[in-house]
Amino acid sequence: MTRFAVALGSNQGSRIDHMRQAVTELRALGTIEGISGLYETEPVGGPDQDPFLNAVVLLDTDLPPARLLESLQRIETAHDRVRTVRWGPRTLDLDIVAVDDQPMDTPDLQVPHPRAAERLFVLQPLCDVWPEAMVRDGLTAAEALASVSGQKVDLVAADW
Ligand code: ATP
Ligand code: MG
Ligand code: MG
Repeated sequence: MTRFAVALGSNQGSRIDHMRQAVTELRALGTIEGISGLYETEPVGGPDQDPFLNAVVLLDTDLPPARLLESLQRIETAHDRVRTVRWGPRTLDLDIVAVDDQPMDTPDLQVPHPRAAERLFVLQPLCDVWPEAMVRDGLTAAEALASVSGQKVDLVAADW
């Protein structure tokens, strides 16, 4: 059994419905061991776009990482996720941001997520559920959180 931190984000359509539905769909992939607060955040990078809802779910699963990624992408597609502009608006983004196992670095999957350590919209919810998660070689989520500033992240609800 491996523990993965999955980051959820939505800034298109009914954001809260996409987020809640995604949690339900993640339950089918393993055991959910934690759900962070729900945050509203300003987009980082990409074109001008609406604010996001973000959260992190802890998922324990026997799925190999590549299978987990496929399953996450299937869920995104079921939410009518369209990829046009890089870092553009999306109904649902599901990224694997951390793992309690060896880091992985394949063409299709890098964990820890290569940009997690700079993103407050990942670090803040990740610290709710797993502050000791490694977000870079030798750097925990809690340590990274202390060094990131200037991004707007507001708690919307602790339970959602
Ligand atoms: P970012 O990766 O900067 O958050 P994004 O989430 O918008 O951007 P996507 O279009 O969702 O990017 O994914 C692009 C590709 O990233 C995917 O096809 C996938 O193969 C790859 N990828 C690499 N590592 C990861 C990871 N840890 N989690 C999810 N996707 C990953
Ligand atoms: Mg992403
Ligand atoms: Mg993604």
